[in-house]
Amino acid sequence: MKPSTGVPLRVGIVGAGIAGLALAGALRRRGHDVTVFEKAPRLMAVGAGISVAKNAVRALDELGLVEDVLGDAVHHEIDVTAVLLRPDGSSALRVPPRRMGVVPMTRAALHAALAGPAGEVRLGVAASVDASGAPVVTAGGQRHEFDVVVAADGVRSPSRAALGLDPGLRYAGWTTWRGVTTEPFDLRGRMSETWGGGAMVGLVPMVDGRTYWFAAQHAPPNVTVEDARADVLGRFGTWHAPIRHVIEATDPRGVIRTDAYDLAHRLPTYVRGRVALVGDAAHAMTPNLGQGANQAIVDVAALVRALDRVGDRGPGVDAALAAYDARRRRPSQRVAANSRRLGQVALAEGIAGTARERMLGAFAVITGGVRR
Ligand SMILES: Cc1cc2nc3c(=O)[nH]c(=O)nc-3n(C[C@H](O)[C@H](O)[C@H](O)COP(=O)(O)OP(=O)(O)OC[C@H]3O[C@@H](n4cnc5c(N)ncnc54)[C@H](O)[C@@H]3O)c2cc1C
Repeated sequence: MKPSTGVPLRVGIVGAGIAGLALAGALRRRGHDVTVFEKAPRLMAVGAGISVAKNAVRALDELGLVEDVLGDAVHHEIDVTAVLLRPDGSSALRVPPRRMGVVPMTRAALHAALAGPAGEVRLGVAASVDASGAPVVTAGGQRHEFDVVVAADGVRSPSRAALGLDPGLRYAGWTTWRGVTTEPFDLRGRMSETWGGGAMVGLVPMVDGRTYWFAAQHAPPNVTVEDARADVLGRFGTWHAPIRHVIEATDPRGVIRTDAYDLAHRLPTYVRGRVALVGDAAHAMTPNLGQGANQAIVDVAALVRALDRVGDRGPGVDAALAAYDARRRRPSQRVAANSRRLGQVALAEGIAGTARERMLGAFAVITGGVRR
């Protein structure tokens, strides 16, 4: 993306997560006057691994942030064999070896790298947007006026609700566990997903040699457990090697258990007045495609591109926000729908699970994959 040719805008951003920080960094570098409000008292990302996929790498490049965020890692794509296994370790489908084209890193590292270019964040400030869509943020009892406000306040976005756009969240029917091994763990270049009996486990080799893993299983929501690692070991400890060893090689305090949600319905718009929604606030999705953070970054690139054109001779802010909505709403909603569908296939059980096995057999024949 070339440096902005448009007019400097006053932009208020609610939320300093992945989307909010990426947006703040890109806009500040382009000369805009940016204020970021974050309700948490510290910039601290929880989570395990995130695979920064090609679409987000391109978006970061366009935003001028790829070196800051990915550094050398962007040149270290890993050669992996992706395999789909059954819990006993037999192969359900093998995709021929290929360059993965993604940069798996910890969510904390991605967040910290985005925080550098983002600059100052007003921490410990729960902000709210104006229900009318006026570019106003109320925070700490004060009204702040902007040219544009961007709601990047995550899956439970209070802004989405304030704007009357909240369709509610839909529990996917299953819970996830995620972790990263404390030390390097050699997967011999094999990235795997194992599906069976309404549950799944994924193992991903990271650039730094450690292994990022995730697991999911049908379960009621809102269950709290004292020891999430013991919980996940109890469920998956008898699955094929090296699943047990990978989980055991993870600090128990670093294992997070979260219920999977997406939006109950697609939003009719990502823009109300002068307030735009980005990231999970706009299209919270289940984690099956690993695209939550990636789509958030792609949103940011589209929004910055649109705002860049605002100028004395270019379109106004309203037209720029409409262009952002037109560019991002349908594609991101398609990704969210596909992510949910993939979750239903991966976590199928009973008759649906048998149908899936048959489909995989047919798919292996069509694609030249191997099935034993
Ligand atoms: C706990 C958790 C763990 C995750 N772990 C993984 C993972 O391991 N791997 C993976 O691929 N994906 C993971 N995800 C999903 C992925 O991180 C998200 O899709 C991605 O972060 C979306 O970015 P975002 O900026 O839209 O939202 P977020 O990154 O969630 O950021 C939203 C921010 O808004 C702030 N906020 C909320 N309300 C207000 C308010 N009123 N005022 C000011 N600030 C506010 C929040 O504190 C937060 O900092 C995880 C998500 C969560 C919530």
